[in-house]
Amino acid sequence: MELTDKQTQFQQEMREFCEQEIEPNAAQIDRDGEFPADVINKVADRGLLGMVAPKEWGGLGLDTVSYAIAVEEISRACGSTGITVAAHNSLGVMPMVLFANDKQKNEYLALLCSGKDGLCSFGLTEPDAGSDAGATKTTGVRDGDDWIINGGKCFITNAGVCKALVITAKTQKIQGSRGISSFIIDRDTPGFVIGKKENKMGLRGSDTRELSFENVRLPATKMLGNEGEGFKQFMIILDGGRISIGAMALGLAQGAYDSCLKYIRENRKSLINSQAVQFQLADMHVKIQCARHLILHASRLEDANQTFSVESAMAKLYASEIGTEVARTAMQIVGPDAYSSELPLERIYRDVRLCEVGEGTSEIQRLVIARDIIKCDLS
Ligand SMILES: Cc1cc2nc3c(=O)[nH]c(=O)nc-3n(C[C@H](O)[C@H](O)[C@H](O)COP(=O)(O)OP(=O)(O)OC[C@H]3O[C@@H](n4cnc5c(N)ncnc54)[C@H](O)[C@@H]3O)c2cc1C
Repeated sequence: MELTDKQTQFQQEMREFCEQEIEPNAAQIDRDGEFPADVINKVADRGLLGMVAPKEWGGLGLDTVSYAIAVEEISRACGSTGITVAAHNSLGVMPMVLFANDKQKNEYLALLCSGKDGLCSFGLTEPDAGSDAGATKTTGVRDGDDWIINGGKCFITNAGVCKALVITAKTQKIQGSRGISSFIIDRDTPGFVIGKKENKMGLRGSDTRELSFENVRLPATKMLGNEGEGFKQFMIILDGGRISIGAMALGLAQGAYDSCLKYIRENRKSLINSQAVQFQLADMHVKIQCARHLILHASRLEDANQTFSVESAMAKLYASEIGTEVARTAMQIVGPDAYSSELPLERIYRDVRLCEVGEGTSEIQRLVIARDIIKCDLS
């Protein structure tokens, strides 16, 4: 699948930027476990916090293919930076692009795309509602012109560094997925508490937190779209988000492969001549290329305004699972040195594991794909 000249040039520019400005900081970001504010400022300076927003609203107006390329390249350099940028763009900015009215866009979009006052988060997951998002327990109750929000969320990326979030709450007493609405909530809204930071296995520089809402009063103007549209909205958002998590897994897999190949070329020439290792390299290379094709295919469908739910689920499922596999194989080929933090391999191995869990587990992707297969067989 060929890229256009413009996309190829963008890919080269991203590779250069990430190798110069992001990759040299990746090990330190992981060691410190702190949000990489300096790196994110450089990302912001290049406009990469507004990749998915149209130019008229302060974004870069990139196509999905270019966006996926950017997430891949950033994640190849640093997983923590990759998920920070992917969550901000796909889960934070995108709901505003697709569902906000002009007044809300005026208030938030250019500011969020600049990153000047913080990032944007998406609060969907709760302790008992993630895979089963219809089980959302956070409530929104109408009080005159306002909504009163009560409840909590968990595992929310960028929550501690956000300017605003998009959150979901049950506003109608209807069973299941109907009756959920989305709201924009500002960081400093009274009653909104951003909780403790998760101590994670990987992606240790990304800021993941729980949230609680205690009688949070939001004016009706903070509702995103219409009442009861929340479930439909986040299904659309998650379709796009899955492309970006797939691209993140792909970048991490490519990073592991590149590191492994460089190491054995420079330090273990005998391994390069071993057919057992050559076959492993060939298998890794093929799997990485397959994942890239699936991601580009789903991205092109989105760019062409065609349905891409099943394709994005396939891309995320495959890229995430081969991401873990490639990182493990790369570590195995290199041996003990891969277990040391002198090489990026152990970090990538920890980072990539999230991709099989976040934004829909592998099991949920299989459900999406299987439902489509069954539907096709019946028709
Ligand atoms: C680092 C990190 C960052 C995150 N960032 C965000 C964020 O920014 N915003 C946000 O809203 N959420 C975020 N999440 C939450 C994440 O998207 C969810 O945890 C994930 O989708 C799983 O949902 P769950 O928590 O309900 O898990 P569960 O559904 O409780 O999963 C437990 C197990 O049950 C399996 N399972 C569940 N249902 C089924 C089924 N029907 N069939 C087969 N198996 C099933 C799952 O696959 C899994 O193996 C983040 C999570 C992590 C770890």
